[in-house]
Amino acid sequence: MLLFATLTDFLHIRFLDVLDILLVALLIYEMYTLLKGTAAINILLGIASIFILWRVVKAFEMELLTEILGAFISVGFIALIIVFQPELRRFLLLLGTPTFIHRNGPRFLFWKFAYRDAPTDIDPIIQACRRMALSKTGALIVMARHNQLDEFTETGELIDAKISAQLIENIFFKNSPLHDGALIIVDNKMKAARSILPVSANPDLPSHMGLRHRAAVGLTERSDAIAIIVSEQTGKISYSMKGKIYPNVEPAQLKQVLEREFQLEG
Ligand code: ATP
Ligand code: MG
Repeated sequence: MLLFATLTDFLHIRFLDVLDILLVALLIYEMYTLLKGTAAINILLGIASIFILWRVVKAFEMELLTEILGAFISVGFIALIIVFQPELRRFLLLLGTPTFIHRNGPRFLFWKFAYRDAPTDIDPIIQACRRMALSKTGALIVMARHNQLDEFTETGELIDAKISAQLIENIFFKNSPLHDGALIIVDNKMKAARSILPVSANPDLPSHMGLRHRAAVGLTERSDAIAIIVSEQTGKISYSMKGKIYPNVEPAQLKQVLEREFQLEG
């Protein structure tokens, strides 16, 4: 106890300092989980390493380098705003939406409590995928979860229809005006077709994967949705979740995944 007292006396640690450190740690953790798997994490790591290097050379009193790096850091905040402009914009837009809290579920810091939605009709989706795979009809189907994907449904044509296998096949039929882009399913409704999704820049994706696959991955990097892809070139079914792609799955496997992810949610 005495040792502890002398130590805190020596280091001048107050309770508020501990709280300060804990809060910063929490903030860094939140930011890391938010950006994990995206290109933004590399930018952030780059900035963090410049910052650490700056503190080190400052501690060693290497003046010239300190000055140069210091200049970098002082414009760093403006650079951050420019680089993360789309993310910041989207975040602020979301915060300003009154339904934000409802849609994202009750949340305390990074603990999120899921709430139960109506189960999704999975069978018609699987049936449509199976048939489109056989006929090599290209398709991209997004199934939203907590994030309602408004910014992406808005880029397409609103349909708001009950899920049906025939309607899905019809949408992706080659001559249909809606076949391009993605079909987005939200709350057990086919909400929009022909939506434009963000394309992933992940360099680890196989090079033979084209824009349809990359758009699926791009969306799941940014949201908790699941995206299903039927390849026009190979007739193979793949799906993407949390920024990863699971290529070449059988319809039965896909059904299992969707049942696991959508019907037992609670
Ligand atoms: P496939 O194996 O079916 O050829 P692919 O991954 O090779 O798929 P592409 O051939 O590059 O994909 O693109 C095919 C279709 O993907 C486009 O016609 C379009 O409908 C869709 N697509 C491309 N980019 C996007 C995007 N950003 N958002 C939504 N859909 C897209
Ligand atoms: Mg292609």
